[in-house]
Amino acid sequence: MPLDAPIRAEFVALLGDQDVIDDPVRTRTYECDGLTGNRVVPELVLLPRTADDVAGCVRICARHRIPFVARGAGTGLSGGALPVADGVVIGLNRLNRVLEVDPENRRAVLEPGVTNLEITAAAAPHGLYFAPDPSSQQVCTIGGNVAENSGGAHCLKYGFTTNHVLSVEVVLPDGSLVTLGSDSAEQQGPDLRGVFLGSEGTLGVVTKVTVRLLRTPEVMRTLLADFPSVAAGGQVVSDIVAAGIVPAAVEMMDALAIEAAEGATGAGYSLDTPAALVVELDGTVEECDEQFAQVKEICDRHGCTRLHVAGSPAERAKIWRGRKAAFAAVGRISPDYIVQDGVVPRTRLAEVLERIEQMGSEAGLRVANVFHAGDGNLHPLVLFSAAAGETERAEELSSAIAELCVEMGGSLSGEHGIGTDKACSMPKMFGEEDLAVMDRLRSAFDPDRICNPGKLLPTPRLCGEKPGHYRPHPLEEAGLIERL
Ligand SMILES: Cc1cc2nc3c(=O)[nH]c(=O)nc-3n(C[C@H](O)[C@H](O)[C@H](O)COP(=O)(O)OP(=O)(O)OC[C@H]3O[C@@H](n4cnc5c(N)ncnc54)[C@H](O)[C@@H]3O)c2cc1C
Repeated sequence: MPLDAPIRAEFVALLGDQDVIDDPVRTRTYECDGLTGNRVVPELVLLPRTADDVAGCVRICARHRIPFVARGAGTGLSGGALPVADGVVIGLNRLNRVLEVDPENRRAVLEPGVTNLEITAAAAPHGLYFAPDPSSQQVCTIGGNVAENSGGAHCLKYGFTTNHVLSVEVVLPDGSLVTLGSDSAEQQGPDLRGVFLGSEGTLGVVTKVTVRLLRTPEVMRTLLADFPSVAAGGQVVSDIVAAGIVPAAVEMMDALAIEAAEGATGAGYSLDTPAALVVELDGTVEECDEQFAQVKEICDRHGCTRLHVAGSPAERAKIWRGRKAAFAAVGRISPDYIVQDGVVPRTRLAEVLERIEQMGSEAGLRVANVFHAGDGNLHPLVLFSAAAGETERAEELSSAIAELCVEMGGSLSGEHGIGTDKACSMPKMFGEEDLAVMDRLRSAFDPDRICNPGKLLPTPRLCGEKPGHYRPHPLEEAGLIERL
């Protein structure tokens, strides 16, 4: 049912005509996030400028039971910001101020639309930085990072977004504005901040975030090492960690990913190697020297065919440019692709990569791999051609790979979230009771199911139900199931 004119008028009275978008050409801009295979054009897009505006928008939605979806930069890869039919999108990009950098307490206070890289840019003059660094950091927002509990290359040593967020100010689905967590180191009561981190926009809208900043390391040593096989590279990762070294980052790329990234950026990767690792060490000069010698010895032991150490900050940036551009660069070698995201125990990396290769050849599709190897966080990219009718096969292969990660003792997602993409796979990882607890938690925040419905959990645990206005399920009407 389309949103009627009086409801639109309420939003216009709050935000002004310019910040309420209903022109179908412009609303189409918001029809998907980075998971471009799923598209829903929203009825309205709202562009608030303050936290009070956001609260006002949500109050109108609550009054009329209109489903809403918060949106940052729309770089999510699991369909988390996919609009809901008959619903509104609340775009947070205009709340984009760095409100405070407090070097003495090593904190920054941010509006949700500040990009990840802008945090470090604001902190850098004080010798500080924000550690979680998704490869999309130039554009993704801190609001999206909080919702997805985002990671990145340096999360191996420094942890995910949740480890760096002290508090969040949030508009709850009834329109009330609350602060979860505290800016002091110790907190009392249950960790509601922790509940919110990684809840994928299903519990409310972030309007302010206080983050922890870290001191910029004295030195960073970045090296690029080629190996005769992905398995050899995987063994190097295990051996580095087994030696007691925690590098700032360990990233792996296979031949297909290298071909794409090198073609796009000229980062200096070898085109004839089956696998390459980017290893970064940070700390004091002494620490880095000692660890570098150990890492070099481990690489040599596993048949390293080339080891190149970045000789300057510009060379380091070049190595990282290749890695960070790799997802997008895959567009050079395939008309379409799906980025999958799963985790396996580090020790099973080689085995899982072999299985993925086998599954790809059975499906008649190529799979490129570029991933945070140190965390066991895989990003298989399933390459396909929609024009050649391969979409369904690619989606099936991508889901099968995520479920393989669970089978191997890992998880459905390392950092990109569950979203709409993997909600139906959640029962592969969690039991009925586990899902019921998550569902009850969600209901405590959002009893009317208007906040990003259809994401994260199968809704109402039966897959295939379309998001939209709340309608009782036929089984519920028949008194056979109960909505908690
Ligand atoms: C090329 C590329 C590389 C990537 N690399 C990484 C990586 O290394 N690590 C990683 O973790 N991710 C990565 N991602 C995924 C993505 O960038 C992250 O999930 C990011 O945190 C999304 O931020 P966003 O601002 O784009 O959020 P969106 O895509 O707009 O939204 C993502 C989710 O957050 C919710 N949300 C957004 N803003 C708010 C808010 N203010 N309040 C409440 N909920 C909100 C949305 O409803 C949605 O559920 C990558 C994506 C791309 C395209």
